[in-house]
Amino acid sequence: MRAIVYHNPWNIRVEEREEPTISMPDEVIVAIRATGICGTDLSIVSGEYTARPQVIIGHESAGVVVETGGSAGKWKTGDRVIIDPTYFCGECSNCRKGLRNHCLEKASTEAGVSIDGTFTRYFKTTSRFIYPLNEEIPFEQGAMSEPLSCVLTAVKKLAVTPFMRTAILGGGPIGLLFYTALAQHGIKNGVIYEASENRIKLIEKHNVLADNWNLEPEFIPQKNQYDLIIDTTGSLLEKSMQAIADGGKISMMGLRNNQQTINPREIADRSISIIGSIDSQDTFKHAVDLINSGSLGLEKIITNQYSLNDFGIALKHLGCDLETQRRSNDISSLKSVIQM
Ligand SMILES: [Zn+2]
Ligand SMILES: [Zn+2]
Repeated sequence: MRAIVYHNPWNIRVEEREEPTISMPDEVIVAIRATGICGTDLSIVSGEYTARPQVIIGHESAGVVVETGGSAGKWKTGDRVIIDPTYFCGECSNCRKGLRNHCLEKASTEAGVSIDGTFTRYFKTTSRFIYPLNEEIPFEQGAMSEPLSCVLTAVKKLAVTPFMRTAILGGGPIGLLFYTALAQHGIKNGVIYEASENRIKLIEKHNVLADNWNLEPEFIPQKNQYDLIIDTTGSLLEKSMQAIADGGKISMMGLRNNQQTINPREIADRSISIIGSIDSQDTFKHAVDLINSGSLGLEKIITNQYSLNDFGIALKHLGCDLETQRRSNDISSLKSVIQM
């Protein structure tokens, strides 16, 4: 089967790989139909996020069950499914503390990072990591469950309340999923700050945001401006501290190495919460239910679809150019999906 294989930064290739086979009774093989291109994939390609050389990348997927082991429960050939790619063992000390998104096995079990992922035809997983995808929901929307689940985990930790004055920093797919998830939690207006002019145009063109949300190119913080700031860029903590109101909450979700200077005294004196979140923990089912409801408007966010052979073009449209080996704000897609 053809697969997108990572070798080292800026060196990814379409290669032939062996198809997986069932070796344990609880295993299932899923024929991948759609896999979303995630910010993590871009960071792997550009060398900002470490992946194992020779690994098949990709982790946000939906497909069809084509084979099951003897004890794969209710699953059968032909079932449309969504894959939860975040393996957890259930037995390590972190899993036993409920920190399944920090499973101690993660370094050697992360699909599309340390073990083979889903930018390919077939993927082997176990029955506990797949969920049903409703008949009428397209595979590419099913593939959004993983990023949505990560966002829902962050929202859960933030314990948001309706009417919080809200800013989302970054209007990429994660920022837009926050917009969607916050609406489900009663936050119906706010501002999204997005630095890429192209992305602003795309959000406007596809009519993604409700009328009571604003889209601004530059985040210029003002005192006591917001009760809730979601930083999906991972690089705006200083500015967020300037804009957050007393008792406010700042969510950090972007993975970006950088240094920021903040005054810890302010965190105490002004009762500010800075809350980090990675991957998903106990929210995958919730994400699947929301997606199966068909009511999230994901068709407005998934703007571009490509074949596996056009992976390089898809990356380029997300501002990640394999030829020049550079990333830029020259973006012509919101969420991109590879169709198989
Ligand atoms: Zn992802
Ligand atoms: Zn574990």
